[in-house]
Amino acid sequence: SSGSDENDVVIIGGGPGGYVAAIKAAQLGLKTTCIEKRGALGGTCLNVGCIPSKALLHSSHMYHEAKHSFASHGVKFSSVEVDLPAMMGQKDKAVANLTKGIEGLFKKNKVNYVKGYGKFVSPSEVSVDTIEGGNTVVKGKHIIVATGSDVKSLPGVTIDEQKIVSSTGALALKEIPKRLVVIGAGYIGLEMGSVWGRIGSEVTVVEFASDIVPTMDGEVRKQFQRSLEKQGMKFKLKTKVVSVDTSGDGVKLTIEPSAGGEQTVIEADVVLVSAGRVPFTSGLGLENLGVEMDKGGRILVNERFSTNVSGVYAIGDVIPGPMLAHKAEEDGVACVEFIAGKHGHVDYDLVPGVCYTHPEVASVGKTEEQVKTLGVEYRVGKFPFMANSRAKAIDNAEGLVKILAEKESDKILGVHIMAPNAGELIHEAVLALHYGASSEDIARTCHAHPTMSEALKEAAMATYDKAIHI
Ligand code: FAD
Repeated sequence: SSGSDENDVVIIGGGPGGYVAAIKAAQLGLKTTCIEKRGALGGTCLNVGCIPSKALLHSSHMYHEAKHSFASHGVKFSSVEVDLPAMMGQKDKAVANLTKGIEGLFKKNKVNYVKGYGKFVSPSEVSVDTIEGGNTVVKGKHIIVATGSDVKSLPGVTIDEQKIVSSTGALALKEIPKRLVVIGAGYIGLEMGSVWGRIGSEVTVVEFASDIVPTMDGEVRKQFQRSLEKQGMKFKLKTKVVSVDTSGDGVKLTIEPSAGGEQTVIEADVVLVSAGRVPFTSGLGLENLGVEMDKGGRILVNERFSTNVSGVYAIGDVIPGPMLAHKAEEDGVACVEFIAGKHGHVDYDLVPGVCYTHPEVASVGKTEEQVKTLGVEYRVGKFPFMANSRAKAIDNAEGLVKILAEKESDKILGVHIMAPNAGELIHEAVLALHYGASSEDIARTCHAHPTMSEALKEAAMATYDKAIHI
């Protein structure tokens, strides 16, 4: 047990930020305790985020392919159907195995694990109401807050996780809704909309802004939206949800133009609220310590992840920056490296972003819109997968690679990929940007044939010269 003997590091929250920080701290020889209220490690990401969503995305994609694409590849069968409980079962099994895996890693690295709700009683003491019902005080020289984030609610829309669901409810629906309305066209909304759309729901996405995924490169976004529309997803942009009525069988949503105007009513069986996430710090006692937060409730930290209260640190979704699992992990490692007297570093300009739809959209660095605001002269190199032999061979040639490079130096500023496996392809570009590569560096790197990765090489060639295959 945690006992009263002092830890070097105590971490509140066992998500990708917290659990990675805990393992790294232990590996650096620090006596480490991790406190997690959920009773399972892995946080939002593993339990109700990245992992279950990717499980369902894969399963629903297989069904969709079987139904719509197998025949053209000469694979025929008489019928194909969805077994939703089995699909959910496979997802749950993946989650359960992975959370247990982290518990195993804790044991292997001698991280002490306390299951319960942690609350600061001083900058070096956390009182934990344990899941078993007791209370224990965990002491630490350094305490890291890694409590993550929660669903952002919308005024006039109460989440009941039955008819009005958050992403958590959308990952565990008991039936395939006939009509699904998704509020918010961000990564999570588009991913969950894809899951249910592929297995039969009519999906309408309502978005307040004028575009889906506002952080995406505009040109890529246009192609992406067209692709989703071809798959049957409907978009109501520049539209806001005023209220929802759940009194009848389904849900009646009153919507109006974002700028105000005539109201209309649309109907749904299930509504997914995916309009963003907010930092989670409730019941943590931060106010008593005087820990500084911004207006949105995010904990403010310096470049060493230290809050204004000595000995108290914060990482992951609970601090400003992209709310992504891999960013939280990077924070976690760098934070404990600083605590251990070493040097940590996270380059927030080079955190890749991936939307795991079909096709996937992945990017790193600047969008063309951002490059324009930099005021530097730049070149654009593009290569469509229609001209990539592997993509044609497998009849999956939607999408493109787009590279932005500084004109003068040819240094790469941003890379955007839309492809079935863009989330994997992007890492060559991430590495290139980390090393300050020019597009010519990628173009002169031998790429295996026939691979989708060749499209990156060709786009790089097109940036400063000409591509070969188009
Ligand atoms: P969290 O993962 O939120 O973990 C915080 C943990 O702290 C939780 O387990 C919580 O129970 C615990 N906790 C909170 N308060 C206390 C307390 N007082 N005492 C004890 N424990 C406490 N990101 C990606 O990079 N890729 C994806 O594909 C992706 N898909 C997503 C899909 C969905 C549906 C959602 C919702 C999110 C997705 N994300 C994805 C985002 C990702 O899940 C988060 O960025 C990531 O989990 C943040 O990690 P964290 O460690 O900061 O916080």
